[in-house]
Amino acid sequence: MTAAAVGAACPLLFLVAALVLPLLLYRSRAMADTPCRKCRTPKPPRMYLCGTCWQALPAPTRCALNRRDSRAMFRLRELHKQVDAGVPLAEIGVTP
Ligand SMILES: [Zn+2]
Repeated sequence: MTAAAVGAACPLLFLVAALVLPLLLYRSRAMADTPCRKCRTPKPPRMYLCGTCWQALPAPTRCALNRRDSRAMFRLRELHKQVDAGVPLAEIGVTP
C-alpha cells in the first residue's frame, strides 16, 4: 500500500501528520537549546548562561569567561562549580 493509497483511504491521517510534524520539529529545535545552569531558562548552546543570568555576573567575570584561551574550560568549570554551589551570580569570580 503506497502513501497515496493510505491518504486516499484516510485523509484524517494526513491531517494529523500535518498538525503533528511541525510540533515535532519545533520540539527538536527547542531541545537543542540547553537550559541555563542557574535558572533553567532555555538558552542558546553556545552561551554559558541565559542573558539575564549572564548580565548578573560581575563585569570582570564576564570578561574572563569571554576569553578563549587554554584556560577557558577551566574557567567554565569554575563558573559551573559556583553556580551549582548556590553562590550568588553577583559574587561569582573566576581565574582572570
Ligand atoms: Zn539564567
